[in-house]
Amino acid sequence: MVIPPRSAYVHIPFCHKRCFYCDFSIIPLGNSAEIPGSPGITSINAYLDLLHREISIAPIGPALSTVYLGGGTPSLLNKKEVGDLLNKLQKKFGFQDGAEITMEVDPATFLENDLKGYLEIGINRLSLGGQSFDDSTLASIGRNHNRTQLIEACNWLNNFFKNGILRSWSLDLIQNLPGLTVDKWVEELDQAVKTEAPHLSIYDLTIEPETVFGRMHKKGNLNIPLESVAQKIDLETNRYLKNMGFSRYEISSYSLPGHASRHNRMYWSGSGWWGFGMGATSAPWGKRFSRPRTIAGYKKWVEQQESHLLEKTLFIEESIPMPLDELLMIGLRRREGVHLEELAKKSGWTQKECNANLQLLDNYWFPFLKEGYLLRKNGRYYLSDPKGMQISNQILIQMFLWWDSLELD
Ligand code: SF4
Repeated sequence: MVIPPRSAYVHIPFCHKRCFYCDFSIIPLGNSAEIPGSPGITSINAYLDLLHREISIAPIGPALSTVYLGGGTPSLLNKKEVGDLLNKLQKKFGFQDGAEITMEVDPATFLENDLKGYLEIGINRLSLGGQSFDDSTLASIGRNHNRTQLIEACNWLNNFFKNGILRSWSLDLIQNLPGLTVDKWVEELDQAVKTEAPHLSIYDLTIEPETVFGRMHKKGNLNIPLESVAQKIDLETNRYLKNMGFSRYEISSYSLPGHASRHNRMYWSGSGWWGFGMGATSAPWGKRFSRPRTIAGYKKWVEQQESHLLEKTLFIEESIPMPLDELLMIGLRRREGVHLEELAKKSGWTQKECNANLQLLDNYWFPFLKEGYLLRKNGRYYLSDPKGMQISNQILIQMFLWWDSLELD
């Protein structure tokens, strides 16, 4: 049985400019996003109109327990624009009592009063894109904010949190940025902990080919840490944050007790979610669908959906559960891992298929099980922390090889 979605992701694609490592679906507006009557404001208004129209044509579903405004830079929207979006979702689906309503914010785009405004209209969790506390690093990755702005933003969030106005907040950092050493990284971690953020997301830098960093890397001009240094940095993250009381509940996510992101946990549990906006992925009934990544493509798609030309393909309830390989991939990111046989049976496998196929997977994973990278307890498989989490990609590659070898229809 497919459980109807109780979560929604809304994509706000606008940014001041594109960061050097970013290949997300975004629209860089320069500084015109904040100038009344500018082309930037016109673009935002036109986009919000499309977004409202897309939400209007979605079918009714159960009340939402999590909402996530991500981007891009949602904090380029003002209080009224964010409020109108939340109202739209609330009218459409309703919000469960205590729903987690998260918004991503960028230190270069708001002042204390703006934050206060977001909290007044129902945002109760903020995710701050810090990435680094070092001015030269921030400049070298193309971020639009500096250290002073980041620390100021952290102080505002922390004050709201301590005063009980904000339920929780998270700070993002990127490890393994160009020029990083273990010592510099420990300083970053130290400053992150000093902000008193109850949740830290620590992402590894990934080099995407169609980015400034991708091009620099191709030419050999990107001074990223060597693999051996990157491993030490990752171990240090794990050691340092655990000493400070953080729990690693997912590969990139560390939280103090009670501050794990419910919305992110929803993704990793394999539940369905609504997704709205340019480039957004949704999986309301288990089947994933990604919207066009350009504004023109998205506009056309919304218009087609409205006029039924695509027969609202996305919105037809299809009882197609997420494929087992995807469920395994996302489930293994979590500290608690996955129960292989339970998951396989939920995906429709018979006991006989489970016996044969899962034994085969054990063979693919044998070296990792033997060396303690992957642990198995009562049918549940999980990555050891930090050893297994560090090489999660290699473990997943073997899983995908196993999946391909099954030659399922
Ligand atoms: S602010 Fe975030 S979404 Fe925008 S360009 Fe930078 S990394 Fe990408």
